[in-house]
Amino acid sequence: MGLRAAFGEIDHVTGLPTRAQFVRHHAAHYHVGGELVLITLADARQFNEILRALGHDCADAFVRAGVARIAETLGPEMRLYHVSVLSIAFCVPRRRGVSVLRLMQEVILAFATPLNAQGIGIRTRIGIGLTDFPPTACPTESLRAALSAAQDSRRRSEGFARYDRQSDEAHRRAFRLLRDLEGALKAPGQLELHYQPRLDLDSNRCHSAEALIRWTHPELGAVSPGEFIPLAEATALIAPLTEWVVRAALRQCRLWMDDGLTLNLSINVSPHNLHEPGFLPHLQAQVAENRLQPGQIEIEFTEGALVSHEGHIRQRMLELRALDIPIAIDDFGTGYSSLSYLMDLPATTVKLDRSFLRDLMGETRTQLLVRSVVEIAHNLGLRIVAEGVENQEQLVQLRDYGYDEVQGYLISRPLRPELLRRWFAHRAGHALAREV
Ligand code: C2E
Ligand code: CA
Ligand code: CA
Repeated sequence: MGLRAAFGEIDHVTGLPTRAQFVRHHAAHYHVGGELVLITLADARQFNEILRALGHDCADAFVRAGVARIAETLGPEMRLYHVSVLSIAFCVPRRRGVSVLRLMQEVILAFATPLNAQGIGIRTRIGIGLTDFPPTACPTESLRAALSAAQDSRRRSEGFARYDRQSDEAHRRAFRLLRDLEGALKAPGQLELHYQPRLDLDSNRCHSAEALIRWTHPELGAVSPGEFIPLAEATALIAPLTEWVVRAALRQCRLWMDDGLTLNLSINVSPHNLHEPGFLPHLQAQVAENRLQPGQIEIEFTEGALVSHEGHIRQRMLELRALDIPIAIDDFGTGYSSLSYLMDLPATTVKLDRSFLRDLMGETRTQLLVRSVVEIAHNLGLRIVAEGVENQEQLVQLRDYGYDEVQGYLISRPLRPELLRRWFAHRAGHALAREV
């Protein structure tokens, strides 16, 4: 066994044949085809907790107990493979005439009782993935597909999942986007900012614009920020991404000023950014380096994000305000925050989410909300902006309700910097721009 172990054929923790063995022998064992099953004994987070709290020996014992539980349930003829630290794979050949689903239900039931690892009872939630395993299948690709299904199964009430190409492709795309976004932040030309002007209804002028990021992937083409920002927010990438946005937007603001156009800029920031100690100093440094006034740079946070990050964020928002940097609450009305919560935030502006404008004409309840939120905002000393204004009727209505500003395709789509400059020049004749 020592010699076989040396060649990576037997796993030293469980004594089971390894993934290398599975790959080597799959054609011989599974020439009739069948279903490949992969069971993950715990999710990675739980396993790390076991490792941290109880140590490696106990973690090994946990894996061995899991394997023993599977082996007892499936019987001695089922050949199990230990394909990664937490994953056990086996194939149920078609000719056995056994219902795979019934087998899986038995496995799930078996794991209802905690595993015994060195005398400690550990309750675990296994994942089970199934995929077709024809004799022609590539074994490593089949293992990957079964693992993808096992991960999907954690979100299913049945406790197991079949390989789903769509879900797998979505995960693979997300993974690829994350990997490539890191490169895009360093490579010139893939990322750029577009700017959407905001119209002040009092003066009928545009004093400000919102910076919106655009990514042209060299192979996938345009990728929407609605797709890659949430991915970046779930990883450490949101920090360099926001730094990139702040640097690019503030430099652009300075270039416009040198060109005779003074604008305030709104920048979208994730609440995760406020957990980084470097965020505020970087913002301050960029404001100074580009010789801007802090009041020119407004920071937008989505309402939903604010609700889920509470206490700490409020403190950081106060620090932003102490620097004289305005704060807008974005997508207002979608985040289920209470009005008392709104009262408590040191914001300067509220941006009503564009979904409320869709039914502005017909629905009286929506009308009531769109109207009453103006009064609340004004009573709290906040400016109120309506997003997603697409037609003249909406504009007239919002003006009537007392909105301070509007933003949307009716005014302009988000534009490249040079186009926005031209847009302002064109509007100058219509007294819309504030030029210096
Ligand atoms: P958001 O901050 O609510 O930005 C407004 C979105 O609505 C933009 O989508 C904009 O193009 C779109 N929009 C503007 N006017 C209209 C209109 O009249 N009708 C319709 N149907 N849509 C309109 P976009 O650029 O795809 O951005 C989507 C979201 O991605 C943004 O929503 C924001 O949450 C996020 N995002 C964009 N750029 C950045 C960024 O630089 N940093 C961060 N953290 N998030 C960003
Ligand atoms: Ca925004
Ligand atoms: Ca918004």
